[in-house]
Amino acid sequence: MLRLVLAALAVVALGSGPASAQAYPNRPVTLIVPFAAGGPTDIIARIVGEHMARTLGQQIVVENVAGAGGTTGITRGAQAKPDGYTIMMGHMGTHGAAPALYPRLRYDPTKDFEPIGLAAGTPILIVGRKAFPPNTLKDLITYLQTNQAKVNQAHAGVGSVSHTTCTMLQSQLKVKSTLVAYRGTGPALNDLVGGQVDYMCDQIVNLVEQIKAGNIRAYAIATPERSPALPDVPTTKEAGLPQYQVSAWNALFAPKDTPKEIVARLNDALDKALDDAATRKRLLDLGGVIPDKAGRTSAWLGNFVKAEVDRWTPILKAAGAVAE
Ligand code: ASP
Repeated sequence: MLRLVLAALAVVALGSGPASAQAYPNRPVTLIVPFAAGGPTDIIARIVGEHMARTLGQQIVVENVAGAGGTTGITRGAQAKPDGYTIMMGHMGTHGAAPALYPRLRYDPTKDFEPIGLAAGTPILIVGRKAFPPNTLKDLITYLQTNQAKVNQAHAGVGSVSHTTCTMLQSQLKVKSTLVAYRGTGPALNDLVGGQVDYMCDQIVNLVEQIKAGNIRAYAIATPERSPALPDVPTTKEAGLPQYQVSAWNALFAPKDTPKEIVARLNDALDKALDDAATRKRLLDLGGVIPDKAGRTSAWLGNFVKAEVDRWTPILKAAGAVAE
């Protein structure tokens, strides 16, 4: 009798969750990448997405919705139905710097999302076209200070990582280059390789292959230590600009009010992807920094986003990038 009652209770318990969460996912999940294909956000989304799809037993379809430094795609994602079938790959720009740069931003990174988890940390590098005259970071500094008007700097739109991190660089050097905006640093890198633009600051995962192939110059990596993926590239500290320290990141978010059970399923799938040897190797070979277990929870990401918004506003104000 007791067994029967327990079994009945179990059935009731199983039946008590939202129907959508139980069946989830029963169709493909759309993953919005707010930049053009081929750039770092897209690369990281496709690497982790591929393994997550296997765990979830459903396809993850990447949709590139580029524009306005990533804020167009994230606005779309924030307004999507919170059912787990639309998620997005945000980053330090869309969920850290954007509020300081867009007074009319249509989302609040700290309130309008259910954080899923951090996908990768991405050190920042300063890179130039192959035939750009400066050879070293010190040469680059002098060159920027003496030729600022004729130097072009590529970026992925106001508020993007490449924009904010190079804004920080220029503020420290007291120079202003001519800015050239792209829909992501994938296409920006193509033009850097082609020699149409002079330099940029970008997330490592975009750059390793082209640096190794000798198609672009790497002046420095803005982290305290060199990257195992690029052992020959000096740190900014070694190369003479120790105050330029900056790193970025990419993370998955769901729209606010996505059921907790679904967010947990997505977090679990991301966690499994980051534990998978082949997925780890792909990220590490590109210089990605894989979060440890403590840095993979949804709660950790929620707190991190708040800290990032607080961190970037004064930096961008000091750089004169924020309208008062
Ligand atoms: N790394 C880019 C940025 O500057 C965006 C991209 O992933 O293409 O924000």
